[in-house]
Amino acid sequence: MINEEVVEKYLKAGSIASRVRREVESLIKPEVSLVKLAEVIEGRIRELGGQPAFPVNISINEVAAHYTPTPGDQFTIPDSSIVKIDIGVHVDGYVADTATTVTLNPAYEPLLESAEKALESALKVVGNGVPVNYVGKVIEDSIRMRGFKPIRNLTGHSMDRFMIHSGVSIPNYNDYRARYKLVDGVYAIEPFATNGEGLVKDTPTVAIYSLRGAPKARDELMKKLWETYRTLPFCLRWLSKTFESIDLAQRTLRELTTHGRINAYPVLVEASRGLVSQYEHTVLINGREVIVTTI
Ligand code: MN
Ligand code: MN
Repeated sequence: MINEEVVEKYLKAGSIASRVRREVESLIKPEVSLVKLAEVIEGRIRELGGQPAFPVNISINEVAAHYTPTPGDQFTIPDSSIVKIDIGVHVDGYVADTATTVTLNPAYEPLLESAEKALESALKVVGNGVPVNYVGKVIEDSIRMRGFKPIRNLTGHSMDRFMIHSGVSIPNYNDYRARYKLVDGVYAIEPFATNGEGLVKDTPTVAIYSLRGAPKARDELMKKLWETYRTLPFCLRWLSKTFESIDLAQRTLRELTTHGRINAYPVLVEASRGLVSQYEHTVLINGREVIVTTI
């Protein structure tokens, strides 16, 4: 069983995340600046008493995940686009992870609906003892029934304190290798649907980084990053006060990545440039109880 105080923190993180997710839907309009959108979202999380658990991901059209605006970038929401907003909130390290998709083109509604219904169906079957590949099967069937494909190399995940991915992956298809059975704990379930081939690949762009663990070397920057983020992801926008210039920040992070001292998360794009939709909720399994913290 999960300690009551810890459950409270997970629930608080979840309610902040779901509130911000709802609020943001009305802000997705053509020509809105992505930097401003990100700042509004992350600002609201802090105002409501949480901390961003990772930089808000704003992923447009064939981009599936891991894009967050860089300082001063000039990108805006394009006309007729399909926009995924993936929000992470933590309260004292206890994380809620949730995502929604908004489209400015009604023709894409069926693609959105396929991932949304897949998440709904998956949430009906999760619980103690349920094999994760069964959750994947439910997601896959639901998406395929509507004529789309799940993205096979993106998964849901178990979470732990200050940890977005704590080891267990929850597939978005019936992956026979994934035989793990769910136990007490916190999990993100996140179906991605596409009209492309159903795979993502890395791009050369990196906007999000994380530490791999407590830094061993006595290095001021690494120490500061550890104190602020632990192993939670961070981005350049959040470091603008730490460095003299964004250029220097970018060069430093690149160098740390090259030397294997930090993780870099490349922006992920659908392999055949298909459009991508995503919905995500966090569930807390506690004995016989299953609570969707971000509903
Ligand atoms: Mn997420
Ligand atoms: Mn997630």
